[in-house]
Amino acid sequence: MSQKLSPESVPSAGEMPMLGLGTWQNEEYDQCADSVQTALETGYRHIDTAQAYRNEDAVGEGIAAADVDREEVFLATKVWTSKLSHEKVIESTDDSLDKLGVDYLDLLYVHWPVNEYDPEETLSAFEQLYNENTIRAIGVSNFEPEHLDRAQDAIDAPIFANQVEMHPFLQQEELRTYADENDIELVAYSPLARGEVLNDPTIGDIAEKHGVSGAQVSLAWLREKGVTAIPKATSEAHIRDNWESLALELDDEDVRKIDDIETVDRQVHPDFAPDSWD
Ligand code: NAP
Repeated sequence: MSQKLSPESVPSAGEMPMLGLGTWQNEEYDQCADSVQTALETGYRHIDTAQAYRNEDAVGEGIAAADVDREEVFLATKVWTSKLSHEKVIESTDDSLDKLGVDYLDLLYVHWPVNEYDPEETLSAFEQLYNENTIRAIGVSNFEPEHLDRAQDAIDAPIFANQVEMHPFLQQEELRTYADENDIELVAYSPLARGEVLNDPTIGDIAEKHGVSGAQVSLAWLREKGVTAIPKATSEAHIRDNWESLALELDDEDVRKIDDIETVDRQVHPDFAPDSWD
């Protein structure tokens, strides 16, 4: 029954596919399961969910229904902020495994560094899960450099990835530099700025030049920056359109024009977000 992995099997950077499927607000069970199955059968091998999305069971159903082995899928979920005591991390991860119908996770994130989050208390549970090979890698999300410093000081196991909002309107220079210097993968959430990038004239011009969609331009720009992107898409058309971004090569001028976009627009800013976001 067990598919537990050896400690050497921590994913290296190249093993986290640079394009994944996001599932936030894909809440209707059959629709969510269909999107996950369609994505896997299109070629995606990275699926992103969270306890808070209330769809881990549907995501699991999609993985089981797809004609792809579980071992080929890079599966990530996130522990919600009310489950971050040591004991609740362990219990709620067990619950996530049950719902997803798997016996290990490729990546488990702390969803936000707030509420019950305490670096030692929370991350010692993540480290325990990592040492038991229940999770292949430890991730954090919505962490700023000071949170990352404290997190890495709290445990010996490596912090593998930081998932943050990133797109052409929130370019995250500081976090990108931090990630490069500290050997942490950056994963871009809301990589289409929740659809807003499609209305930008610079993105539109570049899309027209290459005969592709604006979504593909945003995703190719993130890839150019060495950042993994997890666009949420529900329909087969959007899932396929985003997948085709992997064939788009932006030239230096395209990248420079996107780098120079002046619009700053953070899409996800809950009340409990870090003060530095105000
Ligand atoms: P997003 O991926 O930037 O945008 C999703 C929106 O774009 C949906 O309305 C989707 O519509 C539409 N879309 C997708 N592909 C398209 C295409 N090719 N052409 C036109 N429209 C397209 O936003 P997101 O859902 O906020 O972020 C992506 C994922 O990141 C989430 O699903 C979640 O997994 C993760 N996330 C994590 C956090 C965190 O705190 N860690 C926060 C936010 C998001 P359809 O659904 O109709 O296809």
